[in-house]
This record gives sequence, C-alpha cells and structure tokens, in this order.
Amino acid sequence: MSDCPFCKIASGQIQAKLLHHDEQCVAFADINPQAPFHALVIPRRHLVNLNELSTADEGLAGHLLAVAAQVARAGGVAESGWRASFNTNREGGQVIWHLHLHVLGGRQMGWPPG
Ligand code: 5GP
Ligand code: ZN
Repeated sequence: MSDCPFCKIASGQIQAKLLHHDEQCVAFADINPQAPFHALVIPRRHLVNLNELSTADEGLAGHLLAVAAQVARAGGVAESGWRASFNTNREGGQVIWHLHLHVLGGRQMGWPPG
C-alpha cells in the first residue's frame, strides 16, 4: 500500500525507533506513547486489521505475539506486567489501517479499557 504509513515504516521510507525487525515483522516505538513503554509490532505484509486474518495466517499471528513478548522482555516490563492490544475498526479505537499490536507497560493498566 503506497500511502500507508506503517508500510512506509516497514520499508524504511518513514523513520521510526526500531526495536526488532525480521522477514515477517517490524517492531518500533510508538510516536505518541500512552505508557512509559509503548511499542507497536506490525507485519510487513499490509493487512488492515484482525478482521482480515484467516487461519492461513496463524503462523504470522503467533509470530507477532512472540515478538511482542520479546520486545516486552527487552523493554524491561515483562515482570512488572504489560498489555497487548489489537485495536480493530472504529469502535475498537483503530486509526491506522495497517494491522498493529500495541505493547504497553511501565504503569498500572486499567480494566476495563476505555
Ligand atoms: P491505533 O489507534 O490505530 O490502534 O493506533 C495507532 C498508533 O500508531 C497510535 O498509538 C499512534 O501514536 C501510532 N502512530 C501513528 N503514526 C505513527 C508514526 O508515523 N510513527 C510511529 N512510530 N507511530 C505512529
Ligand atoms: Zn500498510
């Protein structure tokens, strides 16, 4: 997707503070952090959100979760605790239309989420 900001981060056209990259995904610091630690894990492949995910993508989905856990450990929040979130569509709070997994930590999270 030529006008997708997260495709541009994945391809290096837009700079971000990279925390992890491999052939399937990229993780980077959120530009507007909502917690002391706030990273995003995205597939390189353009998927809009979880609504587009099929059982053929189970490997990719598992990989995103494993990388989220790795990024949380490297960010020093694994023991204290962290939150993983896929915001999906309007009522899910999604504003960027490329699948991304939020990794939030470093403060007490509220429940239920707002
Ligand atoms: P959403 O509400 O779609 O789940 O979250 C999108 C997230 O992407 C927001 O937390 C926002 O701060 C982050 N974001 C949007 N544009 C950029 C960008 O260009 N660079 C980075 N690093 N984060 C971005
Ligand atoms: Zn994209």
